[in-house]
Amino acid sequence: MPGEVDTDEYEDVWVFIEQHESEAAKVSWELLQKGRELADEKGERLVALVMGEDVSHLAEEAIERGADEVLVVEDPIFEPYLPGPYGEQFSELVEERKPDIVLIGGSHTGRDFAGRVAVPTYAGLTADCTELEIEADTHLLLAKRPTFGGDAMATIKCVEHRPQMATVRPGVFDAAEPDPDREGTTTEVEAAVGEENVHSRVLERVVGDITDITDAEVIVAGGFGTEGEFGPIEELADLLGGEVAATREAVEEGWIEAARQVGQTGKTVKPDLYVAAGISGAIQHLEGMNDSQTIVAINDDPNAPIFDDADYGIVGDLFEVLPALTDAIRDEQEGTA
Ligand SMILES: Cc1cc2nc3c(=O)[nH]c(=O)nc-3n(C[C@H](O)[C@H](O)[C@H](O)COP(=O)(O)OP(=O)(O)OC[C@H]3O[C@@H](n4cnc5c(N)ncnc54)[C@H](O)[C@@H]3O)c2cc1C
Repeated sequence: MPGEVDTDEYEDVWVFIEQHESEAAKVSWELLQKGRELADEKGERLVALVMGEDVSHLAEEAIERGADEVLVVEDPIFEPYLPGPYGEQFSELVEERKPDIVLIGGSHTGRDFAGRVAVPTYAGLTADCTELEIEADTHLLLAKRPTFGGDAMATIKCVEHRPQMATVRPGVFDAAEPDPDREGTTTEVEAAVGEENVHSRVLERVVGDITDITDAEVIVAGGFGTEGEFGPIEELADLLGGEVAATREAVEEGWIEAARQVGQTGKTVKPDLYVAAGISGAIQHLEGMNDSQTIVAINDDPNAPIFDDADYGIVGDLFEVLPALTDAIRDEQEGTA
């Protein structure tokens, strides 16, 4: 069968360090944290891979955040990101160095090129994972992800092919913290790609209003209880310098864009403060936000399940509570309270 391999030849856990304009994407550090855990369980090394034009500082940071070795491929061809050079270079390195596990962020970039690595190398790729672990007896990667529209969780393992690849949803793992005393090696790799791998060009980069609620420190979320009136939610979010989010119910009603949906089939968020207004607290919503540091729930039903997960609960009409809260915070900020 094509791609069948001697699995014993493959070892180490690799993490792709995604960067744009020399700045690392947060998901890279989240993967290093998880990758470190997986590598330790397997008794293998954690190797980070960074490609770009001016990225050597990221190699140092990757070591501080847990990598044993960092492969650095510096070349202008990798800036800005294009799927051809990234996919080709990554595949070359996989074929040459044979990693056992490869983790890539499930970002636009990661999802764009992961398939370009998996297909030529016959890797087993599980996309959009939300949990990863090592199977105790086999040391295989167990890649878990919601499936059938979120109705079930699938655990996928790849027995015969290598590497075992996974793209991982941003925000599901904590980012690895830097330890300036950590030591590791940096290996410079010469770029193995050229103009023949460039199939498209970026003529102009237009940065639009790209919604990313996963990095927000404050989130004010509304549900079906808002009846589509998100004004008070937006006002509080603005005042606190936070982002607006919503339940699937609100998204399906067309009240708010899908990029702001929190939950099993939406985004996973862990802000310092999550205000949930008019949200009942269904398990599929909780799954995306219950690691938030402080949860404040506003609901007019004292038996709403959201109160079980909230640090502070306010029983009341959100159209009265939210404006009162916003006014009180504004007064406090202006020193007029
Ligand atoms: C496979 C699958 C995947 C799913 N994925 C997701 C997901 O990713 N994210 C997600 O959010 N959901 C998801 N859902 C849907 C989820 O099960 C719930 O249906 C949904 O979260 C409910 O949204 P809600 O809380 O806005 O609405 P409701 O459950 O209708 O709750 C509305 C709440 O508002 C309160 N309320 C009403 N009026 C007011 C008022 N004036 N003031 C204060 N409170 C008020 C009510 O008491 C009620 O508790 C999924 C479901 C399935 C089956």
